[in-house]
This record gives sequence, C-alpha cells and structure tokens, in this order.
Amino acid sequence: MDTRGFPTNLPEFQRVFPNDDACAKYLEKMRWPDGFTCPKCNELGEPYRFATRSSVVLRCRKCKVNTSLTSGTVMQSTHTPLSTWFWGAYLITTQTPGQSALQFQRQLGLSRYETAFQILHKLRAGMVRPERDCIGGEYPVEVDETFIGGVHNKTVVVGAIEVRLRKDAEHRAAKYQQQHAGGIPLKKLVYAGRIRLRVVTGRSAHELVTFVNQNVAKGSIVRTDAAHSYHSLPGFYYIHEPLKIAGDPEKAEGHLPMIHLLFSNLKTWILGTHHGAIAEKHLQSYLNEFTFRFNRRFYPMTAFNSVLGIAARTTAPTYDELYSGEWAHAA
Ligand SMILES: [Zn+2]
Repeated sequence: MDTRGFPTNLPEFQRVFPNDDACAKYLEKMRWPDGFTCPKCNELGEPYRFATRSSVVLRCRKCKVNTSLTSGTVMQSTHTPLSTWFWGAYLITTQTPGQSALQFQRQLGLSRYETAFQILHKLRAGMVRPERDCIGGEYPVEVDETFIGGVHNKTVVVGAIEVRLRKDAEHRAAKYQQQHAGGIPLKKLVYAGRIRLRVVTGRSAHELVTFVNQNVAKGSIVRTDAAHSYHSLPGFYYIHEPLKIAGDPEKAEGHLPMIHLLFSNLKTWILGTHHGAIAEKHLQSYLNEFTFRFNRRFYPMTAFNSVLGIAARTTAPTYDELYSGEWAHAA
C-alpha cells in the first residue's frame, strides 16, 4: 500500500483533517472509494445525508435504509466527535508512544478523564491484538531471547526480526571495500523488516521452537546463537544458521546485529515510557503494542486506519487526494 503523503507532523494533520466534516468525508471515501453503495440493496449512487454530532448517517435513495459512517469502526455508537477520535488515533500511532490516559486527556482537550480513558482503551485494542501472519519467507530472520524487568522478577522474552537488504547494498559494499580491508559488516548492508515478540516461561527448546514455528514462515533462513535450544529447527523445514563459535560476544554481534538492536530499543521504550515498571501479566500487551508500531513505522496510514477500525482500501488515497482539500472542504 502506498502511504507516502500521510501527514508527518501536526500542522499537516490539521490541514488534512481540520474538522468533523473532513473526518466524515475521509471515512466515506475509505469505505466506498468508488462512491456510496447501499449495504442493504447494493444500489450505487449519491445517498441522502444527515449529520449528527459524532457521525454521519447515509440514507439509500432507493430502499431508504440508513447506514452510519462509523458502523463497524471503533467509533461506532460514541458521542465523541470524529475529529477527537482522528486526533487520538494520530497521536497514539505516530507522535507519542504509549502515553497515559491523563496525557491523552490533556492533548485532546477533553473535560472528562473517563472519556479519554475509553478512547485510549479502544484505540489501543487495535494495537495489542497479536499479529497472525508469519514473517520471514524471502527474508532471513534472526531469533534470540532477552530478559525484561527488574532485578528480582526478570521475564524471558523471545524475539524474531526480518533482516532486509538495503537497496543500495552493492554500492555500499563496493565503497566500503575501497576504504577498508576485509568484508563489510552485515549490519551496514541491512535494515529491520517486521518483528514478533513473545513472553516465555523459560529458555526451553520446546517453547522457543514453538515460537519460531508459529511466527516464521517455513523455508525461511533462521539465524540464532549457538544454544542447543534451536537445534531441531531443520526438522521443521527451516534453514538454520546457528552461530558457529559460542561465547564470543563480537562474533555474536556480527551474526545477530538486528535482534540485539531491537532488544535494546524495546528496553529503552519500556524504561522511558513505563519507567521499567510493567507487571508481568501486562508485558505481552506492551510487546504487541511495540510490535504494532514497529511493523507499521513505514506505513503510518495503515496504522492510523487500523486503530480506528477502518477496513483497508485496496489503494491508499494519493498525495493529491489527501492535500487537495477533498477532506477539508467536505461540507
Ligand atoms: Zn438501499
């Protein structure tokens, strides 16, 4: 999905979605890119429109059945204006990771804490759902474990990350060769693709291999450290590339650069946003939220639509559509 052009800062966002009408227009275009089609009788054509405070009702000219623009989205049946929802979705997917309901209330300018809490809760629900499809396939995957938490109650988290080759990898390698002796380090040629993270009870082969089986596509190259836990992977149709020399941190860094960087970023986020204090029973939800944002960092519009519960169109609005004022001058 082409998502270039989605607002990357506040003034842009306000230009694209200045009011409730603009939000309603966007919703309608997302749901019916080729024009309103009645869900009841399938009639295609301009409907009658009735604006309410938090939604727009479209009435079919043929069968007279009403359809709410927000039905099937997280905004269904709420009394909060659409612009507040849009603004909230924009904040949690792009601006301020993992904020509290209180911060959220202030930023949205809501008078009631409960409203902020409810909106945040509903938007987050779209982020904490576990992702179902498998990663890997054409991309090699690094798998490793780390410890999250305080001194006394550390929790084991296993992670997987796709290693994608940069488009300019060949050029980079050639340039490096001219200036240095020896081969270029892998981490200079690659970037992170999608990730998966899971809380496990320990580092048993059974739990770790189950994680790989459920999250990495069969046939993928899987890179791990030299631990015996992963030795059964070839039996599950993976091409296993374990680290050859155990106990050498520098070699391990060269073999698994992306997963170590990911764990480091994850710990920074947990420390920074949650002050390191996440109860073990909530940790998986936070890992899912982190995963949601990470996997959509290049696709802000997908993330935005996803938390609002707006079904994805086959093609994203173009840059021109977004900025032409089509949403802004809807009324
Ligand atoms: Zn109809």
